[in-house]
Amino acid sequence: MKGAAGGGSRGQELVDRLYRTGELSRDQFTELIAGRRTETEAYARELARRVRERVYGNCIYIRGLIEFTNYCKNDCYYCGIRKSNRKAQRYRLTREEILDCCEEGYALGFRTFVLQGGEDGYFTGERMKEIIEAVKKRYPDCALTLSVGEKDEDTYRMYREAGADRYLLRHETAEECHYRRLHPPELSLKNRKNCLKTLKKLGFQTGAGFMVGSPGQTPETLAEDFMFLKELQPEMVGIGPFIAHQDTPFGNEPSGTVKDTLFYLALVRLMLPEVLLPATTALGTAHPQGRELGILSGANVVMPNLSPAAVRKKYMLYDGKICTGDETAEHLADLAGRIEKTGCRIVTDRGDHKKRSFQKI
Ligand code: SAH
Repeated sequence: MKGAAGGGSRGQELVDRLYRTGELSRDQFTELIAGRRTETEAYARELARRVRERVYGNCIYIRGLIEFTNYCKNDCYYCGIRKSNRKAQRYRLTREEILDCCEEGYALGFRTFVLQGGEDGYFTGERMKEIIEAVKKRYPDCALTLSVGEKDEDTYRMYREAGADRYLLRHETAEECHYRRLHPPELSLKNRKNCLKTLKKLGFQTGAGFMVGSPGQTPETLAEDFMFLKELQPEMVGIGPFIAHQDTPFGNEPSGTVKDTLFYLALVRLMLPEVLLPATTALGTAHPQGRELGILSGANVVMPNLSPAAVRKKYMLYDGKICTGDETAEHLADLAGRIEKTGCRIVTDRGDHKKRSFQKI
């Protein structure tokens, strides 16, 4: 492949600049995103794959995703488990059920567990602390990731002191008007960003991210996302296509595309070479080979579903969310086979972020 623009287009020149310097200006991001051609995308994806290989070799990390509650006090317009969706059948797992998921996952080789859920008031700081301590006591060699939304600093600190290692909180969009378009008035971008800063400060390996093709997204809002990610320096970035859920206000909105998602995954890899970047379930839902394509565009993490089979269909963030095939933990061998076809392999260590060391506080 020709490096350093090699006589290529303006798009390639900007991709090269991002690769070489790790940054672009806001206007350059907008220009790259708005004006790109298919060749530019292919170029960025191939470069991103090489960067992933340079940093992480052919290793793909796995995380066992435990969706432990779908109760939520929030009403995000895009989300299938928003509080106004009366059709959602609500559930929450007990501590014992969560530990059973971990046991099953540990036997399969998982060394990271991700506890994700809606913002469920039942799980107070104290209850979460008990769960975190119980998981970490039984599985001291495993990393524990939380993804339970916005809390105050004291609560985040409590989680951290109880032993949680990582936290996923997608910022969803870094542009104010777009944020308003996606969320009800009681939620604010300012608070979301503050939460992310607090999580970083407390020493969590922190994940931000956004949906691709959410209603109102433009090259300008995306440029804002990239500027924000550059500033935050998250250890993880979650990016997947927006997919409409029929029982939400966005039920009839078009979904984000696989092609766009792969391009933005590649740009994130080029901007933040060491980042832990999952090929998400939404990408796997949008395309049968979504995960493999993600890996070939710079992703290096997959997150199979470890939730009990009986509740999986209830954690429906969007229509058609896959939950019975290769993305489930019990079909890990099938997923591993598919990943091998990309020249990569699943590894079963904790898979921490490469560059920084994370101390327990
Ligand atoms: N309550 C937690 C977890 C939210 S669910 C939190 O606030 O972080 C995890 C992610 O799923 C969200 O951050 C969002 O980006 C994504 N998601 C929600 N609805 C979606 C949809 N309709 N299509 C694609 N992704 C969606």
